[in-house]
Amino acid sequence: MSGARVYVITDLEGVAGVQRWEETREEGPKKERAMRLLTAEVNAAVDGILDADPHAQVVVWDGHGSGGIDIERFHPKARIIPRGPIGPPYFMDEGFDALFFVGQHAMAGTSNAPLSHTYSSRTVEYYKLNGIPMGEFGCRAALAGSLGIPTVFVSGDDRAVAEARELVPDIFGAVVKEGRGIEMAVHLSPPLARQLIRETASAATGHIEDVSPFVLTPPYEQEIRFLRNVDLSAYTRRPGLERIDERTFVVRSDVLSELMV
Ligand SMILES: [Zn+2]
Repeated sequence: MSGARVYVITDLEGVAGVQRWEETREEGPKKERAMRLLTAEVNAAVDGILDADPHAQVVVWDGHGSGGIDIERFHPKARIIPRGPIGPPYFMDEGFDALFFVGQHAMAGTSNAPLSHTYSSRTVEYYKLNGIPMGEFGCRAALAGSLGIPTVFVSGDDRAVAEARELVPDIFGAVVKEGRGIEMAVHLSPPLARQLIRETASAATGHIEDVSPFVLTPPYEQEIRFLRNVDLSAYTRRPGLERIDERTFVVRSDVLSELMV
């Protein structure tokens, strides 16, 4: 495939060199460093895509809650959707040929998975889609799948890549750190992480057509369980919500982007 359109979702927690919540949540020098590390990994992925397909069109969405990409250091040949008031499907459409993840972490509750969470580390215990436990990777891979787009690349910690392989066995994965705890990991050096990401992203770009989209069958049913002591008043106003118990909810739709994915 030449001139592929590639959509890249980024997050800050799955980057080599990042392992503490304060680096991803609190504005300041530590978060700025984490953002530089992520931006360099994103740029390495873009370089890898362009190595394999010099005419590829790459669109990167900054998927981290408070913003994770340093726009001044962002790759000159890609386009970016910065953090902002955006909801599913995040300007993703059927015209894209592949979805990539850079900096991905594992779902909430995964053991020894650094900075693991599902959307909100402070409020969500778990998500399920059509009965399958899913983190951010699964929900968004399914969203892409509902648009016919295969998810072909993921970089992040070993638990995040294993989680991705459960759903997309043929995905190209770049493990940049091994989890040892919620705020502990053994990391590749940043240059080595970038080299691995570049090479793996290049290989993935060469095999886009060999990876099947991750497709769930509609109607879609999402089950969400919140942590204890979370204020659910805003959430419970959502139309079409079925309450299962005090902190567990189900919502259904034939359109995946209408759910919390
Ligand atoms: Zn995340």
